[in-house]
Amino acid sequence: MTRAVPVTPGPARPAVFVGASHYRRPSYGRNHPLAIPRVSLAFDVIMAYDALTAGELLPARAATTAELVQFHTRDYVNALRRAEAFGRVRAEDRERHALGTLENPYFPGVFHTPALATGGSLVAADAVLAGHHAFSPAGGMHHAVPDAARGFCYFNDVVLAILRLRAAGRRVLCLDIDAHHGDGTEQAFWDDDQVMTVSLHMDTSYAYPFKGGCLPDVGGPRALGTVLNVPLPREVHDAEYRAVFAALWEPAVTWFRPDVIVLQTGTDALFGDPLGRFRLSTGAFLEVVACVLRVGVPVLATGGGGYHPLLLARAWAGVWGLLSGRSLAVELPEAASQALRAVGWDEDEDEPYYEDLFRRRLEYGDERPVRPVIQDLMAALADHVALRRRLWAS
Ligand SMILES: [Zn+2]
Repeated sequence: MTRAVPVTPGPARPAVFVGASHYRRPSYGRNHPLAIPRVSLAFDVIMAYDALTAGELLPARAATTAELVQFHTRDYVNALRRAEAFGRVRAEDRERHALGTLENPYFPGVFHTPALATGGSLVAADAVLAGHHAFSPAGGMHHAVPDAARGFCYFNDVVLAILRLRAAGRRVLCLDIDAHHGDGTEQAFWDDDQVMTVSLHMDTSYAYPFKGGCLPDVGGPRALGTVLNVPLPREVHDAEYRAVFAALWEPAVTWFRPDVIVLQTGTDALFGDPLGRFRLSTGAFLEVVACVLRVGVPVLATGGGGYHPLLLARAWAGVWGLLSGRSLAVELPEAASQALRAVGWDEDEDEPYYEDLFRRRLEYGDERPVRPVIQDLMAALADHVALRRRLWAS
């Protein structure tokens, strides 16, 4: 049983796509989960759909040091610059800033590439301040902390974009649907009552970052109720994800009344992702994006994780379609199929949906019953929603 992909056009608000030809170049080195075509492939699929005009495309620019140090320490920014200039990471920088490790490897462009992704999200933030929706697919690096890289993330463009929106007086709700907890973003705004962070993710008892992201977290002293985490068990499927999302989204939006929504759209929650453990279909993933757009405020969507390039490209093309108010056909245009085949991704050849990856949007919304473990989680969530209702009323 499948459900239709949401194709309802978004509200009549112009949208911009922030891109850069830089993303066509290989980065992150070999053997790294991010060493796959991501932004460039999504862009190719979007172009195959003829779903982007020249006027909608904004070039990314590298974030400046002055911008980066709004969140990151100068020492850390300098350490990345040094690594890029000298082609290697000094032992003390590895130690102090978690650079040049298996998790955050050195690669040529280790400063410029994340600085460009961050600048892209700042360009997107400016577009949002002008009343547009914006998509910064190279952004979404939600794990990075002020003084160190974390979980493949070097600069936290999500935090820096939110800071820009905050500085302009906007109340920001950040929804993170990456399969991993948006820990760096949450920490940055832990006690900020003008920023609410909502994250649905793999329970950290079995997934990175292996701590935090629990349901009872409510935020720091000044911000009670502005942190909402939903740790989910393995194998979450569409019906379960929908139920959980429906239980939290409406209350969160009603109470917080954001001026802007920042949406981190990592695709590693999709069924088939090599690092994710969920069974979410692309259709259900895009339903969340459609719900976010229905709130009616400007949306800044970023990329994020996602380690299956074909799933990712198709999902992000769908994100852009919704943001820009376009209905993308379920059947892929021939040029999109060709772009996906050219990736040479063959890890899934034995999987039943492999051939379908090149033909149409994935819709494996298996309508299974909601498991007791999710029903328990929903009950706990209802308690926390009630708790927040009291916090917000006081
Ligand atoms: Zn992730």
